[in-house]
Amino acid sequence: MSEPIHFIHPKQRLAFHDIEGFEALLGLALDMRSSWNHATDWIWRQLDEQLWSQTRNPWVVLQTVSQGRLRQVLGDADVRRRLATLVEARRQAAEAPAWFQQAHPQAALGAVAYFSMEFMLGESLPIYSGGLGNVAGDQLKAAGDLGLPVYGVGLLYQSGYFRQTIDSAGAQRALNPFNDPGQLPVTPLRQADGEWLRVRLELPGQLIWLRGWQVQVGRVRLFLLDSNDMANYPVHRGITSQLYGGGSELRLTQELVLGIGGWQLLRALGLQPEVCHLNEGHAAFAVLERARQFMADTGQPFDVALAATRAGNLFTTHTAVTVGFDRFAPALVEQYLGAYAEQRLGISRRALLALGRLEAGNDGEPFNMAWLAIRGSGAVNGVSRLHGAVSRALFAPLFPRWPLAEVPVGHITNGVHMPTWDSAQADELWTTACGKNRWSGTVGTLGEDIACVSDAQLWQFRTAASAALVDYARARLVWQMGASGAPEAWRETARHVLDCNTLTLGFARRFVAYKRPNLLLHDPQRLIRLLTHPQRPVQLILAGKAHPEDRRGQAMIRQWVEFVRRPEVRHRAVFLADYDMQLTERLVQGVDVWLNTPRRPWEACGTSGMKTLVNGGLNLSVLDGWWAEAYTPEVGWALGNGEQDPDEAVQDARDAEALYALLENEVVPQFYQRDAQGIPTAWVARMRQSMARLTPQYSAARTVREYTETHYLPAAVAYRERAAERGARAAALVRWQRELDEKWASLRIGEVRVTTQDGLHQVEAQLYLGDLDADAVRVELYADGQPAECRALQRAHALVGATHGYAYRLELPAERPAGDYTLRVVPAHPDAKVPLESAHIIWER
Ligand SMILES: *Cc1c(COP(=O)(O)O)cnc(C)c1O
Repeated sequence: MSEPIHFIHPKQRLAFHDIEGFEALLGLALDMRSSWNHATDWIWRQLDEQLWSQTRNPWVVLQTVSQGRLRQVLGDADVRRRLATLVEARRQAAEAPAWFQQAHPQAALGAVAYFSMEFMLGESLPIYSGGLGNVAGDQLKAAGDLGLPVYGVGLLYQSGYFRQTIDSAGAQRALNPFNDPGQLPVTPLRQADGEWLRVRLELPGQLIWLRGWQVQVGRVRLFLLDSNDMANYPVHRGITSQLYGGGSELRLTQELVLGIGGWQLLRALGLQPEVCHLNEGHAAFAVLERARQFMADTGQPFDVALAATRAGNLFTTHTAVTVGFDRFAPALVEQYLGAYAEQRLGISRRALLALGRLEAGNDGEPFNMAWLAIRGSGAVNGVSRLHGAVSRALFAPLFPRWPLAEVPVGHITNGVHMPTWDSAQADELWTTACGKNRWSGTVGTLGEDIACVSDAQLWQFRTAASAALVDYARARLVWQMGASGAPEAWRETARHVLDCNTLTLGFARRFVAYKRPNLLLHDPQRLIRLLTHPQRPVQLILAGKAHPEDRRGQAMIRQWVEFVRRPEVRHRAVFLADYDMQLTERLVQGVDVWLNTPRRPWEACGTSGMKTLVNGGLNLSVLDGWWAEAYTPEVGWALGNGEQDPDEAVQDARDAEALYALLENEVVPQFYQRDAQGIPTAWVARMRQSMARLTPQYSAARTVREYTETHYLPAAVAYRERAAERGARAAALVRWQRELDEKWASLRIGEVRVTTQDGLHQVEAQLYLGDLDADAVRVELYADGQPAECRALQRAHALVGATHGYAYRLELPAERPAGDYTLRVVPAHPDAKVPLESAHIIWER
């Protein structure tokens, strides 16, 4: 693919360029690969040990180091030799054929654009909040490992998501430190002549500038936009100020920048991805801009352009409840997009609003980004098997009278980028057992290989990880207390909290009501007994932020902070402030058991528990999200049985009781039941099963392979077909849709007769098509069940005297009673996705 943009480093401190080895450092420092490949750590540590350990940001180290220090370190021939080896390894990793090149050498897939509001790639680039950013970041990294031609598209926020401190009264304080782009591993995108690549976004009465940036993420790149350009009005400079801050107007403008600005940026870079992956509905405006550019290229009207480009769009939904969808007041959407609709898309404001509405004519209905996304996509998926089913119910209103199972939402279960979340020791263990490139291809014998590691080795690995976490938690606690002005006596206590031979439970996530972060506090006395048991104690490490607007979430934080300050548990329970990627890493590497207690089925997938797998931690979770499909008794523990009481208080009490009982009767005894060598053999057996069976399955490499084969490759083909000859097939599809819309009402099912003989049902149905073309529909016999049964009838002969009336026939084995079947008529077209692209349906009864 040709790219007119040349990559130069405007931030290069010119005086340094004559230092031998400096160029090599630049390339390494700007690659987010350092967030999972630790081969370069030593060089940053050598340049500035303290700064490195605090920031883990090679770019900051390189920006800060003095010329003298740089000359001194690079003056060492051995350092330069090691550096050259690293540069060569990076080049090879970037160029060697990877899974995608090997598995799909003939693929007609030029590029995938992956749009997301947030990306969690590393501590050095704080442009994320939590789970959604984690999914985006880990999938981008895995896509690179697999050699997939993916470009990420996101926003560069001036102050990311808020940072948390806990004050001396136990309350959360929200801070918004400024992200100085000069200190972030991002580089401006420049034109060949050095001009900063910027795109223009049309807001009401105003064109604003959006600046383009790029981030190198191993083999792939992430493009970011920000509006903090001097040429913009202050109000517009603030559009990209904060992630999930402000009100709905700020959110809307951010989503315009992401979707419309993002697609324009790709075009300005000379990129024309066949596939556009919308990670959550936030990015759905990309659908409009992609169609607009198709209109400009081909001269087609909006509906044809949408039909053509839709085939290449994929929408991944992450929400388990309708309130989770982004919705905007119609007046606000009209204010910002009214002129765009009329002048650029050539459609009325009402037609635009209808794309985000259930009922086109309902003027009071807000504009729902998820509706726009599904109407603008050729495929839709949820993020776990259970979430797929939940999403089909959420999207069912768009497909009235269709069986739930046929609502066109599938699922691809998330996974995590294992190299990012494994500890150095886990990496070593897996490398010895399974080899170096284990996460970059197909699964092969990974499971069997890791299962061969001995009990003693596994247990040693585990106990060392616990000890490392205890050290880290103590240090972080002391530091955190210092920052919040706690008395010296507290800090002294903090230096001795926790114990490395005690069973460690971890709970860290967003503090929001549905995740029930205080479930363990249901009966504080019972929890205290668990923690302080004289022979079999338990310790607890907690972390999590509550959105600054969420009072309930903040109250739950305070509840925990007050609990951990009780003298009797102070040494067994700690709350670590400012849950972020670095803290997650340490926690998932060190805990014995990772707890998750959401209110089912609100957790769409959940990913934090997957991060413990590679490190030998075990999961204890409600059967929700990924755990509902991953759990078996050999690999961990399940809370509840997947049933849900309509009364939340009743359910909470029941789950709390089950959680205590599970810990008291199973988890704790098993951890402390040791053989003569001191190994808890049953525990280690669980670890082994969890590592062997679940790690390959819940790795982002599996997720991305699945996206590629199930969606990206077919979507690229479908888009090319529809886009060919200026969208000829898309135009035909639109004609078919229109015909159905106009003439569906004239369709009528007549007599349906079933005769059963010799083990066969003979079905004959009469259908009056009215003005409809017989080829535009399919007549089917449908029977409910798991799975449902659906068989097409054949058109037989015209009905006497009827205009456009036909008899349809089918013969089928009489394996179930004829009464189980119902006749129905649905749209049919060789190119169309039904019901996604035409949701008409008529039933016999
Ligand atoms: C992994 C991760 C998440 C997502 O965790 P869930 O359990 O899926 O909610 C959120 N925040 C951070 C910092 C993470 O590392």
